[in-house]
Amino acid sequence: QAKNAGRNQYCFYQESVGQQTQNELKLEQALRQALQQQHLEVFYQPKVCLQTQHVTGLEALVRWQHREHGFISPASFIPLAEKLGLISLLSDQVLAQVCRDIRDYQLTMPVAINISALQLLEPTFSQRLQHQLQQYHIAPKCIELELTESCLIPEQADATLALLTHLRQQGFRISIDDFGTGYSSLSYLRRLPIDCLKIDRSFVDELPDNSEDAQIAQAIIAMAKALGLDVIAEGVEHPQQQAFLFNAGCSMAQGYLYAPALAMPELHSWLHTTTNSETRAH
Ligand code: C2E
Ligand code: MG
Ligand code: MG
Ligand code: MG
Repeated sequence: QAKNAGRNQYCFYQESVGQQTQNELKLEQALRQALQQQHLEVFYQPKVCLQTQHVTGLEALVRWQHREHGFISPASFIPLAEKLGLISLLSDQVLAQVCRDIRDYQLTMPVAINISALQLLEPTFSQRLQHQLQQYHIAPKCIELELTESCLIPEQADATLALLTHLRQQGFRISIDDFGTGYSSLSYLRRLPIDCLKIDRSFVDELPDNSEDAQIAQAIIAMAKALGLDVIAEGVEHPQQQAFLFNAGCSMAQGYLYAPALAMPELHSWLHTTTNSETRAH
């Protein structure tokens, strides 16, 4: 009995692992192809000033529409691209699209791009970035770099500090994404040349009812103020969240309450639509 059960389990295990490996291989192949054929798209989510309800910036978010599987989340294919050593290639394509959109739509507000930790460690990172911007005649002040706390590896603290200082001198805006989910020490954070903290969605989700989250959000806002940084809340979906954040002194927000990430033509008309009298570009 036990032996049989064991054997069955073993077979099941083998089969599912084989299946999983096959799926992974298929996805890998599909991602390589998507990159080769430049099939990835870039959508944009507005960042809104809570005081004026004006759009003050955009965040570029990569999108992959797979022929069979439909929409695949960047939360799953970004780690895959990192694993396959394709993240810099992917990022180059995202930035190129961002540059074209800034040029074609004559955007004046900064556009944020997400930077993976692996990418930041590449010695050519800043050169590649500047080279690409020059190609499209885009100034660094048009680009904001969103780094997660995982980009701030303690072993690389001095190198990262030097790199960020250099980038900021070039004119790039720098923000810390998903803030509060990592382990960056406050003394290190204080030394970093950054502009903005983005409060992670997990602390925003249950505002204002969850009192722990409320206190964490308030603490992050207070800390940002003390360090002279801007602060933006991500994942704002309800007016009650917005009201709480505004009263707590948070200056900006991003989330479905305003708009999801949209393709540039849709975002462009959203920005200019008159029915959107509350939230529009200034
Ligand atoms: P992130 O940078 O923290 O981006 C915020 C994510 O939350 C986005 O998911 C966005 O669509 C989603 N979101 C925005 N507002 C709301 C809301 O009100 N409610 C909810 N439930 N979700 C909201 P997305 O686009 O799936 O991206 C996931 C993550 O993938 C991003 O997290 C970012 O870390 C990464 N990512 C996306 N694009 C790129 C890219 O071009 N390069 C790199 N390296 N990473 C990227
Ligand atoms: Mg981000
Ligand atoms: Mg984020
Ligand atoms: Mg997040």
